[in-house]
Amino acid sequence: MYRIAFFCIPAYGHTNPTLEVVRELVRRGNEIRYYSYNMMKEKIEATGAKFISCDQFDPQMDLRPEDAERISTDIAFSTKLLVNMTLTMDEALLDEMTQWKPDCIVADSMAMWGKLVAYKLGVPFMSSTTTFAFNRYSSKVMKQSFSQLFKMLFSIPKANRQLSRLKQRGYPVKNVLSVVQNDNDTNTIVYTSPEFQPCAETFSDKYTFVGPSIQASEAVTSKTGRPTIFISMGTIVNSKPDFYRNCIKAFANSAYDVVMSVGKETDLHSLGPIPDNFTVAQSVNQIEELQKADVFLTHCGMNSVNEALYYKVPLVLFPQTTEQGGVAYRAKELGAGTYLMDDAPESIKNSVLHVLENDAFRHAAETISEGFHHCGGFVLAADKIEALCH
Ligand code: UDP
Repeated sequence: MYRIAFFCIPAYGHTNPTLEVVRELVRRGNEIRYYSYNMMKEKIEATGAKFISCDQFDPQMDLRPEDAERISTDIAFSTKLLVNMTLTMDEALLDEMTQWKPDCIVADSMAMWGKLVAYKLGVPFMSSTTTFAFNRYSSKVMKQSFSQLFKMLFSIPKANRQLSRLKQRGYPVKNVLSVVQNDNDTNTIVYTSPEFQPCAETFSDKYTFVGPSIQASEAVTSKTGRPTIFISMGTIVNSKPDFYRNCIKAFANSAYDVVMSVGKETDLHSLGPIPDNFTVAQSVNQIEELQKADVFLTHCGMNSVNEALYYKVPLVLFPQTTEQGGVAYRAKELGAGTYLMDDAPESIKNSVLHVLENDAFRHAAETISEGFHHCGGFVLAADKIEALCH
């Protein structure tokens, strides 16, 4: 039995894939402490891990939706968050970790304070990466724009100045790139397949592509037998009442069942009358809905796309951020979806029907799904983490 600490940021997309891994580790008799945020408490405790709230240490994690995008594009901004967060947690966390003596620390690739604590204490470290793994090859393929790259490069001196605050407190950080980028020496779990990951062959054997971290459940089937359209814009940038109203216009009283998850910020009354063939909720059990769906109109969050393809559901791609644009690009490249170019009702209808009526999209999704099922999933992730504890 090992003692393992998990660290994550307050985002469902980053937390969900870790939950089955933690459940598996607990099932094997390991003791898990999961450092996260109150909004995740219930989900984390349900795995059998001990939840430890980081809300009290959080100087500015109450991020606005537009900040979520900034984290992935503005290195100076994300470094400042990282440094503030690490220094705020420093004393309490180091005391606790020194006494508890974890055998391994697993941290989300954006919860960099976990990685830094591991380095400071010399504890084996595993990065949990819920996005695509990122290096100079994959970023090229993902067509990250030049202006963004320049912005990153010019902001690095500013970010490096921030990092000197960490060095003064004994954190062994070389430079900003060594912290924000996983190099080929960092043990890393990536929750997709080598086939879906762009340039998978350019990553070292420290990387394990475990595929989507999904617990097989009883198959769920549609009750009506009519084609089912599932629509979701994820859990972060999802406040889009006009878009949801247009989806309703596109498919009101049609021959399709439509399930639409509109996010916790959307007032259901603002969407007008809900037609009988629609089920609209602020949040749904996405894993269950995907098993009934014939097509998924998605914002292209990495987890949503992974989960949909795992269940062989072809996609209508409507990315809202740069990162989602990369995921959409890859899904399109592999033939599993088509873009929605604008959100007019007619465009929504045409794109969804195009995917429903062309088997090629479903076949591509089936091929990717097959690769996902061969990856090892949360069981392999747990094996890799335990192997680090030896
Ligand atoms: N999700 C869910 N119910 C919903 C909407 C989303 O369970 O109504 C889950 C979904 O299954 C996925 C996560 O929330 O695991 C969203 O992560 P993703 O990376 O797709 O997007 P994000 O919300 O981070 O933009």
